[in-house]
Amino acid sequence: MELTSQQRRYLQDIFGDRINFEKRERQLYSSDVAALPGLLSGMAGHSEPAAIVQPRDEDELVQIAVWAQNNKIPLIARGKATSGYGGTVPFQGGMVVEFNRMRKIMAIDTGACSIKVQPGAVWEDIDRRLRERGLTLKSYPTSYPASTAAGWLATGGAGIGSYEAGYFRDSVLQVRLVQPDGEIKVLSGEDLDLVVNASGISGFISSIEFRVMPLEKLEVQAFAFDQASAAAQFIEALYEEQVPLWSLSFSNPEAARYRNRMPLNPHHGPGRDRLEVPEQFIVLAAYWHSSSARELLGDMAAKHGGALLDDETALHEWENRFSPMKAKRLGPSLIPAEVVV
Ligand SMILES: Cc1cc2nc3c(=O)[nH]c(=O)nc-3n(C[C@H](O)[C@H](O)[C@H](O)COP(=O)(O)OP(=O)(O)OC[C@H]3O[C@@H](n4cnc5c(N)ncnc54)[C@H](O)[C@@H]3O)c2cc1C
Repeated sequence: MELTSQQRRYLQDIFGDRINFEKRERQLYSSDVAALPGLLSGMAGHSEPAAIVQPRDEDELVQIAVWAQNNKIPLIARGKATSGYGGTVPFQGGMVVEFNRMRKIMAIDTGACSIKVQPGAVWEDIDRRLRERGLTLKSYPTSYPASTAAGWLATGGAGIGSYEAGYFRDSVLQVRLVQPDGEIKVLSGEDLDLVVNASGISGFISSIEFRVMPLEKLEVQAFAFDQASAAAQFIEALYEEQVPLWSLSFSNPEAARYRNRMPLNPHHGPGRDRLEVPEQFIVLAAYWHSSSARELLGDMAAKHGGALLDDETALHEWENRFSPMKAKRLGPSLIPAEVVV
């Protein structure tokens, strides 16, 4: 789909250097973080957008929505395109609406433990600002260094911290949504169904207000098990006994094997000594310093045949939570084998 010269002129007048029709740029926006398998890309067809537009605020979102509806041009929302399921790819043609210029932290209420952000705010930036005020996130995806608040809400939102805090929507107080006809809806509670997991098809999220929590020292412990069933029973027992954990994740021996084979610092910098993780089922538990989890975890793991790993290994595993896809560098067709509980 190509825009007419009249349509281009109209958009250029409004968005100036925030609209892009360049061929090379459009090619970059014809895929997301993942490459589609050859079989599917043949079926998916042409996915190059006619243009990429970067609105600055809610008013501009309304303007573009109304114009696109009148001109029958499909619009596709794009945060940082880390979702990898094609949700940001314009398979039916149309324009990509990119949220890079709507990433402000709009307000932080320290007393009420809440924050309001624009849709394109990136988790790491949000958390940095919260930490300056003695607060932190209740949950976040492991794509935290490079994914947006709206992108997570629009794709369901479970990740680190969800063991305690649930889905991201459970912390959300209010969402503003620009609907395809330009009308604005303010959503909370059950009405959030309109945007959660909707992958952007119900309109553009223009702001999100959500609960956060006081910052505290975090502790992590890792336990290794020979059998998946023993690790599973340990996790079930933790849940049944209501051990106060914030985050719980596990990985299997195959994932550890791949991590142990990864080149160290493959792109830059000096090499480091490799920390070999045991090629077993590893359960990683994170909890706040004031919780009573530490006293309970060791005994419960031992009861199920689990061995406590040293602090260095636990920290190494925790720091690697942002790299679940790293093992893909070893081959083209690996699927990550770590799941957040
Ligand atoms: C290394 C890695 C780790 C990951 N870890 C997790 C994880 O722990 N948990 C998890 O749930 N996912 C995870 N993901 C998947 C992905 O990162 C998340 O879904 C993320 O929240 C998407 O954010 P994004 O900004 O990249 O959104 P995008 O991929 O750009 O968009 C996702 C969807 O949201 C829509 N959208 C974007 N902005 C808006 C808006 N303003 N209004 C309406 N719709 C919008 C898009 O159209 C698209 O359908 C991971 C991905 C990678 C690559």
